[in-house]
Amino acid sequence: MKPAPVDYVAPGSLDEALALLAEHGDDAKVLAGGQSLIPLLNFRLARPSLLVDLNRLGELDYLRNGESDLAIGAMTRQRRLERDPLVAAAAPLLQAAAGFIAHPQIRNRGTVGGSLAHADPAAELPVVTVALDARFAVRSAAGERRVPAAEFFVGLLTADLQPGELLVEVTVPAMPPGSGWSFHEMARRHGDYALAGVAAVLTRAGDACSRARIVYLSLGDGPLRAREAERLLETEGVSPRTIDEAAGLAAEREIEPAGDIHASVAYKRHLARTLTRRALAEAWQRAGGGP
Ligand code: FAD
Repeated sequence: MKPAPVDYVAPGSLDEALALLAEHGDDAKVLAGGQSLIPLLNFRLARPSLLVDLNRLGELDYLRNGESDLAIGAMTRQRRLERDPLVAAAAPLLQAAAGFIAHPQIRNRGTVGGSLAHADPAAELPVVTVALDARFAVRSAAGERRVPAAEFFVGLLTADLQPGELLVEVTVPAMPPGSGWSFHEMARRHGDYALAGVAAVLTRAGDACSRARIVYLSLGDGPLRAREAERLLETEGVSPRTIDEAAGLAAEREIEPAGDIHASVAYKRHLARTLTRRALAEAWQRAGGGP
């Protein structure tokens, strides 16, 4: 199918883009990498009357390493997360997860802001931004607000963005000292959307675990935190026994998988348990904990 007729404009500055969005409100949609939006237009699942193309906004394409965080412009391509040494040094979990997004051709066009705004429950970037306690800058013609990643994903394919608002920047804080990370997912073929996946970040304080993050993709309506499993590790420490218990708790009680033609609910729970065990053991090892 072809898209319904739509007007198109490619503003040359962020201010111009925000003014257009303020003027057209709900009737306008922004075009970033187009890797999700163009198929939606082609299937006529989205029918905006105006497309505001962000691809001339070089001012939103950047990586900046601050003293304790990494700032990423919304129009930064996903491929850059995977290849830029700045990301590898400041946010290795982000770099590792980016390599699982689709295929290089898609990552060359797809943007960080587009993936987050699209809020696909099977997407990697929403999950790792929640695991890393990232913050998002959302701007409109009226001003800017900051939203923690954990509050940005409000439902299936729904982000906390109002008509006229643009996600402009993601800030990823450095992991606390003594932290280790891990990302694992299972897809039928590399590059397919994952059947299940998990990001884990564990922070070690002596033999104890002072902070745990366990966040899933493809097992709920959006990035899904296993808070009970996190609490178990924070109160009882990390050992082969607690890793096993946390993985079981998350897989049986905390995720909300939907069965489909690719995987049953039981298989998704099995994947969640196995991937969680692997991710927690690896994150703890990277944090300097025992094997
Ligand atoms: P677009 O498609 O241009 O926009 C997506 C949506 O976000 C639109 O509603 C748009 O209006 C809105 N938007 C874009 N930028 C902003 C902004 N700055 N502020 C506010 N709203 C904005 N993704 C994965 O995560 N994992 C995968 O495994 C995966 N596999 C894929 C396989 C295929 C075959 C394809 C075609 C895509 C796949 N994707 C996957 C999706 C891909 O990562 C997209 O790049 C991403 O979902 C959207 O980013 P985009 O820059 O292309 O945004």
